[in-house]
Amino acid sequence: MKGGKLIVFSAPSGSGKTTIVRHLLNVPELNLEFSISATSREPRGHEIDGKDYYFISTKDFKQHIKNEDFLEWEEVYRDNFYGTLKTEVERIWAQGRNVIFDIDVVGGLRIKKKYPKETLAVFVKPPSVDELKIRLKKRKTESEEKINMRIAKASVEMATAPQFDFIIENDQLENALKEAEELVKEHISEKKSPTEKE
Ligand code: 5GP
Repeated sequence: MKGGKLIVFSAPSGSGKTTIVRHLLNVPELNLEFSISATSREPRGHEIDGKDYYFISTKDFKQHIKNEDFLEWEEVYRDNFYGTLKTEVERIWAQGRNVIFDIDVVGGLRIKKKYPKETLAVFVKPPSVDELKIRLKKRKTESEEKINMRIAKASVEMATAPQFDFIIENDQLENALKEAEELVKEHISEKKSPTEKE
């Protein structure tokens, strides 16, 4: 498969990585397209099927696992499956564009392992777990139970940060956005990778 670059942003839920990814998608020279994940969770608020996620049933998700359709997949929270379909990366690379992922730490590291040369893996670090809790509560999109589930996972996720290529501290959003832009610019301007066939 002839392809461009892969840019992974991973972080605990509520750390602001989605804001960073959205910002980068609006920088035309980065030539990025968002990898739309498949998930078995219910859509939230204004989320649109085929734009934010491919919302599919747990049954269909498990069928895709059986068919080996996923580049990576994860049961991020109990009974909530998330995964990147191989066809998604193929679709974006076929357009000659670079792929940007907003996925969990395990999935992010898996992509880095599969495509070490092509992938820039960035961990977005929130100021603290307490701050995460405040942000998740403000978002008002999840129940107390779901928020606690996400907070419990956050500490485990924070421990994986050193395995990423870069860590961005998101205490000042403006700085985080600038830093992210610079990192991606540098990565996509690097020479073509050896695994990429002409
Ligand atoms: P949310 O439910 O808040 O949209 O996402 C929950 C977590 O799942 C986030 O950390 C998000 O980045 C992650 N996630 C979204 N899509 C994928 C995916 O395709 N694979 C993996 N491994 N994680 C994903």
